[in-house]
Amino acid sequence: MKLHCLGTAGYHPSPTRHTASFFLEEANILLDAGTGVFRLDHLLHGPELNVLLSHAHLDHVVGLTFFWDLVSATPLEKIHVYGEHRKLEDIRQHLFHPSLFPAQPPLQWHAIDMTEEPWHLGDAKCEWFPLEHPGGSVGYRLRFPLVDLAYVTDTTSQHDSDYWSKIQGVDWLIHECNFPDSEREMAERTGHSWTSAVLENAYKHGIQRIILTHVNPLADDRDPIGLAAATARLGSRTPSQILLASDSTVVDLSRL
Ligand SMILES: [Zn+2]
Ligand SMILES: [Zn+2]
Repeated sequence: MKLHCLGTAGYHPSPTRHTASFFLEEANILLDAGTGVFRLDHLLHGPELNVLLSHAHLDHVVGLTFFWDLVSATPLEKIHVYGEHRKLEDIRQHLFHPSLFPAQPPLQWHAIDMTEEPWHLGDAKCEWFPLEHPGGSVGYRLRFPLVDLAYVTDTTSQHDSDYWSKIQGVDWLIHECNFPDSEREMAERTGHSWTSAVLENAYKHGIQRIILTHVNPLADDRDPIGLAAATARLGSRTPSQILLASDSTVVDLSRL
């Protein structure tokens, strides 16, 4: 199961990073639709695509407006968009208001919060759970036959956050890490996470493999979240495998 990191910045693009979007190629599932969506052009092979949205902040949804190009340049015909009912409504009314964008691509909307039951996309069993973030966000757990994956973005990671109970035992966790430890105060003010908290909390909750993303686009790309200092300070109290995603990263999730 290949994970293509198409957009690994938060807030706005940088010369090296677009905003939140991850593509699970074999499953045909896109996690969030930030500015990285245009990078799907050489990856789409079928007529339909499933998009799971964490929330409606622009860095996660503006790429929904890019689908006209993808529909004309690839076999794609229909895009199924999943998210909370209220967020989908807001996207329809505001992002696709004629003042902002002229015509809606062939998007089909699916509210995830009409039932508590998990649902299936291909051979993936999908679950969602709420996250603390200004305006609200949701995380997803996707259980494939060969890999169990969670996507948690736009939240302030606390050791007692409710979401840890929803992702127990996952093989891989994709987690936001917008700020280094030195910007903890800004992280708390904006509803984001900082490096040591993410790593230490993940370790405490038994996460073995973590992919860090949603990086501050203004940070120095060599070590944007102060990973070297945080791992040195935490020693063995981190997941055993830590990947800092970049826009060219492709991770084979099945290789455990
Ligand atoms: Zn964001
Ligand atoms: Zn957000």
